[in-house]
This record gives sequence, structure tokens and C-alpha cells, in this order.
Amino acid sequence: MADLSEATQFGLHCAADIIRHSRRAVALTGAGISTPSGIPDFRSPDSGLWEHFDPFEVASLTAFRHNPEKFYNWMRSLAIKILEAEPNPAHYSLAALQTLGCVQTIVTQNIDMLHQRAGSQNVLEVHGSLETMTCTGCYQTVKAWDFVDAFLEKSEIPHCPNCGAILKPDLVLMGEQLPAKIWLQAQQASKQCDLMIVAGSSLEVLPVAGLPMRALENGAHLILINYSQTYLDVRADVVFHEDVAEILPRIVEQVGGGGL
Ligand SMILES: [Zn+2]
Repeated sequence: MADLSEATQFGLHCAADIIRHSRRAVALTGAGISTPSGIPDFRSPDSGLWEHFDPFEVASLTAFRHNPEKFYNWMRSLAIKILEAEPNPAHYSLAALQTLGCVQTIVTQNIDMLHQRAGSQNVLEVHGSLETMTCTGCYQTVKAWDFVDAFLEKSEIPHCPNCGAILKPDLVLMGEQLPAKIWLQAQQASKQCDLMIVAGSSLEVLPVAGLPMRALENGAHLILINYSQTYLDVRADVVFHEDVAEILPRIVEQVGGGGL
């Protein structure tokens, strides 16, 4: 692990102090927390997932309805990466902060389920997840796992066992509404928290990017950990433009959970 600058060490000290004194912290995570696990950001044009595809022609709700075969063809490489991925130290650190009682809720933009696999509880997946699929005909929800082998090995597009219509993964596509109940819970948690820790999100995708603002308006502290700048850097108590998988374990050490 690289040596940390004095500024980063001071930042860690400040962040740990704020976390220790918080009672209702929320962590908001984005694609940047899963890139160390090898998962590209499926919404980012720079992710490598878009080399042969136009996102609006593939991963939008309209595109799915018109050409589900093309969508599933694109989906294959992302699904393989997610199935092969393991949680990284950043995921485990947030789970540790939950165990320590410092973080109550995780709001994630990711669909990879790595927070749950790292042991986190109370994860609000505002962009959905790959765990389940919904029938486009009868709206029955089914476990995606039952269809994975046939999809990956035989390129079979998942169809509803009940009515035969095409199944759509329960991830939020472009042009699609966020899952209403989960989004409401995320908004409430953001308004009621006394600290928001943003980890691996550039805060560019609305409406999720507005959640830290809701927290700030209600007097919460804000800690930002993201490689690139965000629109709220100037409002945050502490900002780290560094690797979340390096910074979060250091924060846990300082908070008092021991090394990871
Ligand atoms: Zn059906």
C-alpha cells in the first residue's frame, strides 16, 4: 500500500472522528466501489462495454422492448464480469462500519450485489439488481439464477415459465423509473442521516446524485471518497480523491475496528 500524504492522513483522522460521533450514517456507493472488483460502470461510455454498442440503442427501456436479443447480447459480458467478481476491501470496510454500528444504511447505484456478499445489511439498490427478473407479459418476478446457465452457455434468452413472454432483468435501464419503494426509503434515509459517506460515485447520475444534497440540507456531515471531483466537493467536510479500496480500510482502522 502506498505511503499516504500528510493531507490524506489528516483527512483520515477527521473522517474517523466524524464517523465515531455519528448515529445515523448512510453510505452512498457508485460504480467506483466495484471497479476494483473488475466490474465496469454499465452507464459509463468509457467503461469498455460500449465499444460496439450505442447505449441508447441497447440499454434503454425502449431498446429493450424493440430488440431484447440485442440487449441480452450486450448484457452477456457484464453478467460474466459480475458473476466472476468478488467484493473488495471497500465493500468489506462498509460492512465492518455497519457491524461497528457506525453506518446504518447503504444506498447503492450498483447492480452487482457485492455489498450483500461482503456481509452488509440494509442495502437499498436504487438502480435495481441482477438477482431477479420480471416478466414483460404477466409481471411475475422470478429468480434470475435459474436462467443464468442456459443464457450464458446456450445463449437462450430468458422467457417466463408462466406465460412465455420475455423476462427483463430488474435493473434500471435508461429512461426507466427507479423502483418506487426503494427510492422512497433512500430519500428518507438521506434526509434523516447525520452523516453521508459517498464512496465511488462521481454524483453525475440523477436523481441519485441529489441525495447528498438532501442530507446536507438537513445538517448532515459529508465525506466524499472518489477519484474524480464531484459537484459537492466544496460542501464536504472531508474529500479524498483516491482509491476507495485503499481509503475505506484505513478509515475503519482509525474508527477502531482493527485492520482488515
Ligand atoms: Zn409471464
